[in-house]
Amino acid sequence: MILVTGGAGYIGSHMVWLLIEKGYDVVVIDNLEKGHKKAVLGGKFYNGDLKDKEFLEKVFAENDISAVIHFAASSLVGESVQNPIKYYYNNVYGTLNLVDTMIKHNVKKLVFSSTAAVYGEPENIPILEEDKTQPTNPYGETKLAIEKMLKWMDIAYGLKFVSLRYFNVAGSHPDGIIGEDHNPETHLIPIVLQTALGIREKVIVYGNDYNTKDGTCIRDYIHVVDLCDAHLKAMEYLEKNNKSEIFNLGNGMGFSVMEVIEKASEVVGKKIPYEIGPRRAGDPSILVASSQKAQKLLGWQQKYNSLETIISTAWKWHSTHPHGYEE
Ligand code: UDP
Repeated sequence: MILVTGGAGYIGSHMVWLLIEKGYDVVVIDNLEKGHKKAVLGGKFYNGDLKDKEFLEKVFAENDISAVIHFAASSLVGESVQNPIKYYYNNVYGTLNLVDTMIKHNVKKLVFSSTAAVYGEPENIPILEEDKTQPTNPYGETKLAIEKMLKWMDIAYGLKFVSLRYFNVAGSHPDGIIGEDHNPETHLIPIVLQTALGIREKVIVYGNDYNTKDGTCIRDYIHVVDLCDAHLKAMEYLEKNNKSEIFNLGNGMGFSVMEVIEKASEVVGKKIPYEIGPRRAGDPSILVASSQKAQKLLGWQQKYNSLETIISTAWKWHSTHPHGYEE
């Protein structure tokens, strides 16, 4: 059985769906603080928190778990600056409890959800895994602290992990049956599509005075299903090679905020109103990954890598669920 923590969240729910599609038995843990029970399309569900050791002990005692895919975390950059204690508790302490329980139960394969935020302001584009890691917020710091912790867990106890550093995850299940539903929503593509639906009046573009082709920030958008496919491949890699690794996951292509708004207008077939606003604190001008290592070592190939496919699958979800998972 595969344990998915945070399986009711945006990425975790796509992972649960894909695992079930591929015939795996799945156990899901989520505290439903941000996740949605309705997003979990199958598997055995436990409502609980990684900070609760007894709860974890029960899940591991009741199920024959062979590997863990670990998404559960707090992941809002702004909130992490305001409330770092929450981030160290939920992310670092939560993962420590998880790993402790895994080791006690002799479960030694972990796929960990890391982030491009471990790099901070990049020195080179595209960003390589061995580039300098210097997070600019507690969210990135906690993910980097966990990567470092996992390295020592490997050395001491033989826990093998693959850490996947995500760039900008977007898009939805190709049929639009599950998708992104955050409250508050902070991500560009959902905000642009909610504006297209009239739920928001306009998109505020956070600055157009960056040193980029049109002055707006450039990001590397990766489709959620491609991202989850990389997690499957990471699990297979651990089984075959029994070796810990770190990989970037991105498209290797960057799109500006204005390009996203323009492409979304094309996809939905109408103009999307926007206004140029001030810069958002802490936004690097360009973040683009090199994912060559993942392609080479994991044999990962993206299927949904055009910006059009990313936006049109997201549109399938948003246009049919304008208020997300709420009725
Ligand atoms: N962005 C924007 N307006 C919004 C939300 C985001 O201009 O309402 C920009 C943001 O400054 C960044 C890009 O869109 O350059 C992607 O932001 P998002 O929050 O989706 O992801 P991040 O790059 O912060 O992980």
